[in-house]
Amino acid sequence: MIKIGERAEIGIIGGSGLYDPAILEDVKELKIYTPYGLPSDFIIVGTLKGRRVAFLPRHGRAHRIPPHMINYRANIWAFKELGVERVISVSAVGSLREDYKPGDFVCPDQFIDMTKNRVYTFFDGPVVAHVSMADPFCPELRELCVATARKLGITMHERGTYICIEGPRFSTRAESKLWRQFGADIIGMTLVPEVNLAREAGMCFVNIAMVTDYDVWAERPVTAHEVARVMAENVEKVKKLLYELIPAIPRERRCNCAHYLSEALL
Ligand SMILES: [Zn+2]
Repeated sequence: MIKIGERAEIGIIGGSGLYDPAILEDVKELKIYTPYGLPSDFIIVGTLKGRRVAFLPRHGRAHRIPPHMINYRANIWAFKELGVERVISVSAVGSLREDYKPGDFVCPDQFIDMTKNRVYTFFDGPVVAHVSMADPFCPELRELCVATARKLGITMHERGTYICIEGPRFSTRAESKLWRQFGADIIGMTLVPEVNLAREAGMCFVNIAMVTDYDVWAERPVTAHEVARVMAENVEKVKKLLYELIPAIPRERRCNCAHYLSEALL
């Protein structure tokens, strides 16, 4: 592992619309090389109320990298090299149910993986790891995230199943109806394999899913203009949420997230 002078304990992965958190002070931009290649962009490291935070825009700052081309392993590895133990992943999603409305936030507690062609693990052999994914998100971070949103008056649904599709195309109507029958609540293209890799790396992981639209099941076409407006509002809300959430994260971890890997190695 390369020695980097900079350290960060909390990592934010920004999704569509969130390319610069603008809540960090004393920022530095770091180009981090990993055994898997370069992450999506420079990593911004800075301070928020005494906490060291790393920020990485998942699609790159100019939104140049589509979901299926993101180097998820390099992104998580770069955070690991910085010492990141908690990952807050932010993503824009579609809603698969009436009551999860555009503008609402969801803190998913489960996911369904419908991706097709990604690299899902750091363990390609000879070391083999089968990590538990029964509960894929950090319970401690989820609880804190929901409580902080509530305090700020942000509508956040405290549960949800995120179905991750390969993309970059959107679903057909038939697929969208099928995802609803699967019990999925929201749909996106980037959660997997980010969440699995973070677990393999012993990190806590929470996802803040920002609903931008109803997927095609609702047969309620939305205009690009509406989607852009909702996204802009979501980004402002998520910055407020991160600003309150990060300092509230306890310094010591009381969850099991650091130990899944040791239970997974064969
Ligand atoms: Zn945890």
